[in-house]
Amino acid sequence: MNGSTEGGLKTVANSAELVAGMSRHETHAVESCPLCGDSRNSLFHQLRHTLNKVEQTYELRKCRGCGLVFVSPRLSEAALTQLYDQEYYFSTGWPYDGLAARIIEYIQSQRRRRVERFVPTGRLLDIGSGSGHFVHHMAHHGWEATGIDFSAAALALARLNGTNGNGNGNGNGNGNGNGNGARFLQGSIEDHQFAPGSLDLITLWQVLEHIGEPRPLFQTSHQILRRGGMLVASVPNIEGLSSRLAGERWWGLDVPRHLVHYSPSTLRRGLEQAGFRVMHVNHFSLQYDPYALLHSSLDWVFTRRHFLSDFAKRNVPGKLSGLEFAYNVATLVVLGPVLAPLCLLATTTGSCLRQGGFIEVFARRD
Ligand SMILES: [Zn+2]
Repeated sequence: MNGSTEGGLKTVANSAELVAGMSRHETHAVESCPLCGDSRNSLFHQLRHTLNKVEQTYELRKCRGCGLVFVSPRLSEAALTQLYDQEYYFSTGWPYDGLAARIIEYIQSQRRRRVERFVPTGRLLDIGSGSGHFVHHMAHHGWEATGIDFSAAALALARLNGTNGNGNGNGNGNGNGNGNGARFLQGSIEDHQFAPGSLDLITLWQVLEHIGEPRPLFQTSHQILRRGGMLVASVPNIEGLSSRLAGERWWGLDVPRHLVHYSPSTLRRGLEQAGFRVMHVNHFSLQYDPYALLHSSLDWVFTRRHFLSDFAKRNVPGKLSGLEFAYNVATLVVLGPVLAPLCLLATTTGSCLRQGGFIEVFARRD
């Protein structure tokens, strides 16, 4: 341990088990709560994760001050950036492109309907825009829509989706322009000059859990929204029924990418600290919740974690014997049809009890 404290993070030598020839991952122990600054916390879960053949133990710590759950140690920015390649945003091997496109478009239209109940139209900034589907969809429906993402792979994919889908992306890499008016920028909102009060809507779809220090983002978002403008954020819910049922195997944990784990109360606290007023919390997510619970349940019987998503992407990593592969597929075929309706029932029950596995929070700048 060679530590120095910088902004609440203590830089330490990596404790990972090193494999010959593999580069080590620099990590930081998170000393204080990213939301309230309290240094008192307790162990919530402990998980081992292998990244590029380097094993690391991660702890999920629960803040005694506000209840936020956060991951410690945290990978360095450079190592985290490597986790967001094109494969992360979308499978390249999905065999049903037409069906996938229809489902993706349906998801965007449902999102648009939910946000337009609060803001009918205007200027949108989608933070962590990923593959760009939501930005293209909103631009197609009359919004002045901008997406921002720090990942170059995501931006390339977003511009490509503009050429394939709703618009005519020029793909010229200058951050501007698509035939449908969608615009994409690289970096964080601090890297670009957004005028105070210039936006009507900010969306963060499954993004906040990836941001280790969320307070500056909440404050900047508050500044660049107009009065009456809305921030809409969806996150996995660490206090939801699915998280409680699946424990440390829950898909929503996604260690080490997810750095903080919100509940309705901790997300409310973070937003209210920045001056927002929470108007509504949605506990129903057909898109994520049943699949996440099914995925987590099957991980109890598969010989390796994440076999379902790897198999769906046709990207099962090597060193899997034919027998092991056959066992996992047989398990999926036998147990999948039994577990799927049970997971749908459990997650629907969780939503009705306001313990959804994934939540959407709608907050207004008054
Ligand atoms: Zn806290």
